[in-house]
Amino acid sequence: MLEVLISVPTLLICTLLSTLVVAVFLTQYWLTERGPAAARFWCIAMWIGTASSALLATRETIAPELSIGLGNFLAALAYSLTWAGFRAFEDRHVSRIALAAGPAAWSLAYLFSDTFAADMSLRVILMSLVVSGYSLGIATELLSGRRREALPSRRIIAVLLASHGVIYLLRIPFALVAPVTDGAAPSVSPWFAIFALEIFLHTLIVAVAMLVLIKERSEFVFRYAARSDALTGILNRGAFMDDVSARLLRRPDSGVLMLFDLDHFKSINDTYGHMAGDQVLRRFTSAVSALIDDDMIFGRFGGEEFAVFAPALDLEHGLAVADRIRRDVARLSIGHFGETISITISAGIASVVLSGGDLDRMVAAADHALYRAKAEGRDRVNLAGPAESLMQVAGRMRGPEPGHAEAGAVL
Ligand code: GH3
Ligand code: MG
Ligand code: MG
Repeated sequence: MLEVLISVPTLLICTLLSTLVVAVFLTQYWLTERGPAAARFWCIAMWIGTASSALLATRETIAPELSIGLGNFLAALAYSLTWAGFRAFEDRHVSRIALAAGPAAWSLAYLFSDTFAADMSLRVILMSLVVSGYSLGIATELLSGRRREALPSRRIIAVLLASHGVIYLLRIPFALVAPVTDGAAPSVSPWFAIFALEIFLHTLIVAVAMLVLIKERSEFVFRYAARSDALTGILNRGAFMDDVSARLLRRPDSGVLMLFDLDHFKSINDTYGHMAGDQVLRRFTSAVSALIDDDMIFGRFGGEEFAVFAPALDLEHGLAVADRIRRDVARLSIGHFGETISITISAGIASVVLSGGDLDRMVAAADHALYRAKAEGRDRVNLAGPAESLMQVAGRMRGPEPGHAEAGAVL
């Protein structure tokens, strides 16, 4: 029944048209945007896939060496280049051996084994292994990159391609149990026709996946650039405020904000130059990034002022973290063209609870505490006003704790 509805040559022509359309778009992208390596691999893969579909679709009218021999070789090459494109998309090395494996396996079998060349079932089995191997490889690449770069379509594309890989492997038992022969038109075998429909669908999925991933990648890059500070790579003020606001919406009842300002930073610029100042800002940023927990939000507020929001901490623990940062930063020795630069920082801390969950009030409170830390001599951590009294009450009730003496001294 199905073999009457599905015509394999028609499906191959549809496959050809879909690869052709995507090949044209990818070529235009490659030429005008100087697209990345992945787009180059995919572009070539799509043109080769188009040529392969053209040869396979005309198997009744051209020599089998061209239609079957060259057509399947080009299909294997298109798959291996598509896989290479996904490797390049993930910034991973493309192994030439893996790239050549599929097309080489087909060529060797077809050119050097008459039995293989004459047996359609053997050919189906080999091509199934090649196609499944590359498809499962692509799915693995996509999933492995999702932590690094959470593109929305990664998972769905990976699932579709992995399903295709598994479905294609099912051709092998079919080829063994119900072999098709070149003599009878393959379309008379229902399973062959169904798998031809599947390969058409798969080609559509791969083609759409390439275009969607390129679009999502460029959106991701733009969004990242819009949210990050160009010098240090951490969140800029707007992104920091957005992320903390979002966090406060979910949990409006906990967290502390720490504002840090480098002491006498202008004199570093004046003494060592602006480049040295930039390097100090980068070193400060990487030192703080290494000290804070994964759930903390770290951003550059502007100039030499930075902020950390610690969602799970109360004032007391926030104070301990801020003071640890202050002490560790004071120990940094930053080399710049033979000179060694040391810095100190001052900090102001405010809590969500005492600011009533209002971010602007919390920033103002922390800023006020920071201002006091500067006025009192710098290189110290100060708590925001109302919190100070609360801490003193809490401290009197609990008694002094070891390790907080230094921070407590500046309260
Ligand atoms: P204080 O201890 O009171 O904070 O003194 P300060 O010198 O750190 O503060 P001030 O506000 O007087 O100077 C901040 C300086 O930071 C002035 C500005 O040129 C410099 N600055 C701001 N952004 C950058 C930057 O991206 N790179 C460099 N190198 N310097 C910057
Ligand atoms: Mg400063
Ligand atoms: Mg400042």
